[in-house]
Amino acid sequence: MECESNLFADNRMTLISIDQLHKVFRRGDEEIHAIRAMDLSIDPGEFIAITGTSGSGKSTLLYILGLLDKPSSGRYILQGSPVENLSDSERAHLRNKFMGFVFQSFHLLPRATALRNVMMPLVYAATYDTPIPEDEQRRRATEALTIVGLADRLNHRPNELSGGQRQRVAIARAIVNNPKLLFADEPTGNLDSKSGKEILALFERLNKEGVTIIMVSHDPSIAERAKRKLVLRDGELVEDSHAV
Ligand code: ADP
Ligand code: MG
Repeated sequence: MECESNLFADNRMTLISIDQLHKVFRRGDEEIHAIRAMDLSIDPGEFIAITGTSGSGKSTLLYILGLLDKPSSGRYILQGSPVENLSDSERAHLRNKFMGFVFQSFHLLPRATALRNVMMPLVYAATYDTPIPEDEQRRRATEALTIVGLADRLNHRPNELSGGQRQRVAIARAIVNNPKLLFADEPTGNLDSKSGKEILALFERLNKEGVTIIMVSHDPSIAERAKRKLVLRDGELVEDSHAV
């Protein structure tokens, strides 16, 4: 398994390629086709917004691309390697090492400080690689929190932070491992518009520094900020447009 660092070393290679991807959920007798025969190719350095009405398949697609879910059929090639034969632990390793995730509801540990929350991926990294010493974890988590503008909130717990600050902690946690790929599912959905704009500005900065960003948003004004917009309808890709 090509789980080692050379997997993402080549920046000219197509990052993500999916071919006739299909996802069916079964509930009782009912079949829900959440993703239908989708083809898509994503290059390193892109900033993509996936948009579309509720239920159109945005989260399903994001979770499949982020190796949090598996397609029912079709191919997914990540940096030249098919992912269908990876074991769950190989998938978890790839996520930990190369991907960051940001969710609408932050998913922070409520009793842990901002610093501890951001250290978590570095703690888990020990499952796959040589453990990272705690002072190094602290140093890197502090650096990530500084990047998101929270250097003065390291020891605050989530309930002592505003929604926008909580989401910035979640972003710090997502970038603490220097991911190549950042996935965000409605990252501004629980925020006021000013905090939402700050989160987007942060994504734009990370993207300029080379992080590939794939963000789901049903809000057109948010989606317009990305360099490329994918519109889903009923599990199908109905529009794929680049910003001018
Ligand atoms: P979106 O994020 O665009 O709102 P989703 O990807 O969450 O849409 O859902 C797409 C479709 O798949 C919806 O009809 C939804 O009800 C269905 N769906 C999503 N997850 C599941 C699941 N775990 N079990 C059954 N149906 C699901
Ligand atoms: Mg969704």
